[in-house]
Amino acid sequence: MQDKKYLMIPGPTPVPPTVVAAMSQPLIGHRSDDFAKLHEQIVGKLKKVLQTNNDIFVLTNSGTGSLETAIANTVNPGDKVLALITGNFGERFANIAKAYGAKVDEVDFGWGNDVDLKVVEEKLAADSGYKVVLATQNETSTGVKNDIAGIAALVSKTPALLLVDGVSGIGAIEHKTDEWGVDILCTASQKALMLPPGLSVITVSEKAWRVVNDNQSPRFYFSLPAAKKVYDKWNTAYTPGVSMFLGMDAALDMMLAEGMDNVYARHALLAKATRAAAKALGLKLLSEDRCASNALTAVWSPEGIGADDIRKVLKKQYGITFAGGQGKLKGKIFRIAHMGFSDKMDIMIAISALEMALAQVGYSVELGTGVKAAQEVFLGKVE
Ligand SMILES: *Cc1c(COP(=O)(O)O)cnc(C)c1O
Repeated sequence: MQDKKYLMIPGPTPVPPTVVAAMSQPLIGHRSDDFAKLHEQIVGKLKKVLQTNNDIFVLTNSGTGSLETAIANTVNPGDKVLALITGNFGERFANIAKAYGAKVDEVDFGWGNDVDLKVVEEKLAADSGYKVVLATQNETSTGVKNDIAGIAALVSKTPALLLVDGVSGIGAIEHKTDEWGVDILCTASQKALMLPPGLSVITVSEKAWRVVNDNQSPRFYFSLPAAKKVYDKWNTAYTPGVSMFLGMDAALDMMLAEGMDNVYARHALLAKATRAAAKALGLKLLSEDRCASNALTAVWSPEGIGADDIRKVLKKQYGITFAGGQGKLKGKIFRIAHMGFSDKMDIMIAISALEMALAQVGYSVELGTGVKAAQEVFLGKVE
């Protein structure tokens, strides 16, 4: 049926009608007082969501643009970089550093695992020459949440800067930027922030500014000093995505009205129900409960059944889109996103359709077992 679609991938995610309406307002000039006011308002709200008093820049580009901004402004050719990798996006962050000529020490913790703090401690003790450390808050390719507080506690004792990719975690999983001591945090609009793709956000600490201002790598569109030059007037260096700014203001209002604690609790509940349902159906989860993401759940396809065959049935017959596996997990897992504009009944729809699709591809499933497990979580019947 036309328009009856359920987008359950980790970005882009569904956008609330209120946000769509805000984005449909008449355009305003980006050098106007109205825009300056909007910009200031957004940064004020982002400070609450990101728990920081650092400078916050809203950039007009996708999430990778904020990662490149972080690298271009802190890494010179030959600099030593420690990359903590737990999947595809950790690899991407490392690859950007390599593109800027860094000597990247890549530590791969394995897809499905989180960062082992002991290894980080050893690495930092063995070599005091790292200029930056790269970490991923929520590894979207595997549904793993990393312990950024723990990593930051180790890195902040060294001269190195901690750069965090929070593209899919911010808005779903709490991030205490200042309390933990994260120097640069990157995120983007189209994941848990409930907006279409098009904006990214980056925060810059005092410690980071000292490095940024001295950096020699080529930078123009991604120059933080250029953004900073006009920041005090609530201007942007180049034309911003004005409609997206209008949408971001509305999306942040929605999140703050719900209350950030409630937003995080909702994500935790959705993750818990999804995991309980998958387990009840006899499916294996990629990540252990201990480091499971609250933003999305990665599920192994049953033995002998291609994950993409399940996804095809879901898409064609039920209008539901789950994400597939990336890189080495292609065809082996499917990923159910429950981030941003997502609530209990989205999970019920996803799980009931999953049960039917599993039955259709030949997996023996007792219909209703996954649905029941999720319902019991929502009714508070599970510890
Ligand atoms: C989506 C995502 C990105 C990439 O963002 P784009 O907007 O596609 O450039 C980077 N890191 C993580 C963790 C992501 O989930």
